[in-house]
Amino acid sequence: MSFASLGLSDALVSAVAATGYTTPTPVQQQAVPAVLEGRDLMVAAQTGTGKTAGFALPMLELLFPNGHPEHGRQIGPRQVRALVLTPTRELAAQVHDSIRSYASDLPLKSACIFGGVGASPQVKALAPGLDILVACPGRLLDLANQKMVDLSQVEIFVLDEADRMLDMGFIHDVKKVIARLPAKRQNLLFSATFSREITELANRLLHNPARIEV
Ligand code: AMP
Repeated sequence: MSFASLGLSDALVSAVAATGYTTPTPVQQQAVPAVLEGRDLMVAAQTGTGKTAGFALPMLELLFPNGHPEHGRQIGPRQVRALVLTPTRELAAQVHDSIRSYASDLPLKSACIFGGVGASPQVKALAPGLDILVACPGRLLDLANQKMVDLSQVEIFVLDEADRMLDMGFIHDVKKVIARLPAKRQNLLFSATFSREITELANRLLHNPARIEV
């Protein structure tokens, strides 16, 4: 099993090889083809399983088919094509760094935003529009309320570590973010555990999801 055989194109396969990965992990083997098919995903996976690349690689492939920006696809000011929500700023920064390394050969426009630091560099980063935004829910909502970011054109939505999001009390903010997304979009939900609350959220968020457990 190779990354190329999962349907990823050369730009991603070579970036992954440069990172030092030789074989896709089980979550990547299952998640990559399902995301490329356009399906929603519900994934039960712990940190350390390779789940970040499991969503980041196919997401980059969908945004840059065969390593090229989709023909004719324009991003308007403050718009975002793919949104990744994470519960902590450490995780947001880590996920963003991973995405940047996988996209080393792609003309990716991305940013990472979270609270506890000044908003003006983040506002500036959002202004031209982005392929991928990695964000924590509180700061994202603040900036959305101030019309500094427009979530109405999001094509792919990733909710990472949904169980921690709930434990940390961010569920209301997450629901407010979801309310700003367009109806037609692809949703990927990752959680280490599936409690009743997460399952309820998944049932509301996901349409006919592929279910993956590792
Ligand atoms: P994650 O579960 O996404 O936090 O990833 C855990 C660690 O595994 C990270 O340090 C990744 O760089 C690494 N990793 C992800 N995919 C692979 C792979 N296919 N082969 C080797 N290491 C990987």
